[in-house]
Amino acid sequence: MRELITRERMTAAVLYGKRDVRIEQIPIPRVGPGEVLVRIKAALTCGTDLKVYRQGFHARMIVPPAVFGHELSGVVEEVGEGAESFAPGMRVVAANSGPCNQCFYCERHLANLCENLQFINGAYAEFIKIPESIVRQNLLILPDNVSFHEAALVEPLACVLRAIEKTEIEEGDTVVVIGIGPIGLMFVQVLKSMGARVIALGNRGSQLTMASAMGADYVVDSTKSNVVEEVRKVTGGRRGADVVIEAVGSKETWQQAMGMVRRGGTLNLFGGCPSGTHIPLDSTLIHYSEITIKANFHHTPRHIREALDAIHRGKLKARSLITGEEHLASLGTVLERLLNRNGDIKIAIIP
Ligand SMILES: [Zn+2]
Ligand SMILES: [Zn+2]
Repeated sequence: MRELITRERMTAAVLYGKRDVRIEQIPIPRVGPGEVLVRIKAALTCGTDLKVYRQGFHARMIVPPAVFGHELSGVVEEVGEGAESFAPGMRVVAANSGPCNQCFYCERHLANLCENLQFINGAYAEFIKIPESIVRQNLLILPDNVSFHEAALVEPLACVLRAIEKTEIEEGDTVVVIGIGPIGLMFVQVLKSMGARVIALGNRGSQLTMASAMGADYVVDSTKSNVVEEVRKVTGGRRGADVVIEAVGSKETWQQAMGMVRRGGTLNLFGGCPSGTHIPLDSTLIHYSEITIKANFHHTPRHIREALDAIHRGKLKARSLITGEEHLASLGTVLERLLNRNGDIKIAIIP
């Protein structure tokens, strides 16, 4: 007999407010038509979760007390009516959202901007219920050689792959990556696998070392130098970079990014700034230098598939981005440690 039938409750991390997370017993979600219950095997910490933990909520989707965490993989536990393409025991990864496929944006292949995007949160728990739209489009079966830890990277990697595709980077291009947290390090790895020359900028020694180890051709410590000058110096005699990817999300780094790109080059402002942030534009730079400015928000089902494929084929050394593993009961301690910038990249939380 399946264990679940005899159990009503599960262990989960519940966020109560600023830096207040408690491990509690809460009801195991019940699946309805089209839904799937997944037993979580790994949930990865992420910058968004850290932000949510620090401020105690997420303006758009997490009102405490609430479960949180959104990068997960696991095993199918229970399948709702109509979701029979999945069966208990299957190893799966779920993206953190599913588009509606019917709105203006979905019809124009911009599922990342879907007006009815359905998000899930609650990866820091024993089980999570995957809603129908995600089951239908963004719940994927894992190839045998992909571990649960690696699979849980699919969601952030999908955002990175979409940004690279949109930015139209070519082999041999010089690309600056500003910010080398987990996302920036993924950019470094994927860009190197494409044959780009990568200049990585960061403000922590441990990250700079990692960026070098992952193939960055040149690293710049942003606490020690005038970063715009430094990048200009190493790009064709002050020409500037072909492409600049900003993966921090601050006013200062968005402005720096604009100063580093060459004439006719492209910026991808990947890092989202706090709402209400306004940034002045140098019109001369934009007009006479023909700078193209792009941005990236979220992912689409196609990029989720491409991300899993990239991990499967070893294009991303997924293991190198997960620097530790901790039990769910230690989540609060882990998040505190990450807030104190201890040198970890991502930690796998195991229920
Ligand atoms: Zn994330
Ligand atoms: Zn839609």
